[in-house]
Amino acid sequence: MNKIPAELAEQIVDPKPGPGGKASALNTVLIAEDDPLFLCLLERWFKRWDYRVTAVENGLDAWEVLQKEDAPQLAILDWMMPGMDGIELCRRIRSRDQGPYRYVLLLTARDDPRDVVAGLEAGADDYLTKPFDVDELHARVRTGKRILDLQAALIHAQADLQHAAAHDPLTGLWNRGAILDWLRREVSRRQRTGDALGVIMADIDRFKKINDTHGHLIGDAVLQEVTRRLAVNVRPYDVVGRYGGEEFLIVLPGCNPPDSAVAAERLRQCIADKTIETRIGQIPVTLSLGLASMEQGEKETLDCETFVRYADEALYAAKSRGRNRVETAEGSRAVGSKATDHG
Ligand SMILES: [Mg+2]
Repeated sequence: MNKIPAELAEQIVDPKPGPGGKASALNTVLIAEDDPLFLCLLERWFKRWDYRVTAVENGLDAWEVLQKEDAPQLAILDWMMPGMDGIELCRRIRSRDQGPYRYVLLLTARDDPRDVVAGLEAGADDYLTKPFDVDELHARVRTGKRILDLQAALIHAQADLQHAAAHDPLTGLWNRGAILDWLRREVSRRQRTGDALGVIMADIDRFKKINDTHGHLIGDAVLQEVTRRLAVNVRPYDVVGRYGGEEFLIVLPGCNPPDSAVAAERLRQCIADKTIETRIGQIPVTLSLGLASMEQGEKETLDCETFVRYADEALYAAKSRGRNRVETAEGSRAVGSKATDHG
């Protein structure tokens, strides 16, 4: 048991209040301390500093808390505890390479430099030797919080970058690279499982004319509305990407040829059936679609590039046969002849 000197207890019973502000997700702390009085004091301080506290009296309970997905990222661990000591807890925390970083402050009655080194080498970020000043604890906790906040900001920035790298900024759809990655994954899954797969290449008819007549801002608004309609008219597990300017690639996992044809026709209708409302008025828009699909268990395996090529050839056929229609590639050959005008 760690005895707290009376003068220290007096000083720490009424610590300075922490900076205000609402508790963020990171404002949680695990305190593991086997001295009940000291644990109670620590708990009281951290609550004053706007922390949500999980308090435990031994190392085993601490380890149980730390393994949870939503465990506090800040841990105040006593070195000497029954069950599992703070050093062993540090080792276990660091041996897990998943999840967010945990900032560990070790509390110790030991002040031998070799012990301090052992604590830091086991994975503690910082340590305090008992008895300590409450303001010093608060200052060190703020340092830990800064590091955790910085880490959260980095993770957030990384997620933003990943999103930006894979998405088209105008429509929010997967961009060309990302939708081709999706298709590659589905093709490779099909090669393992033999599942059906449908691929649609869709193109807004005479889109250049919309841009030329009404300007690019109206063209952008049309692209966004077409995107919105496509997105609500596919199944939740279908994937829509912007392949090029006004071209969309739609991947239909597990969708056999008849159902893929129905899906393509539904997409055609959702654009053609209702004019698009823009700030300069209603604009009629139509979509031509080329479909390539493989039946479940079909022996022939197409690679990603071939799927795209077949769908593209079928799209050309739809264009050459008058637009606002769906054409289907059959086997290795697209139905219809290749049109030269791809407008
Ligand atoms: Mg202890």
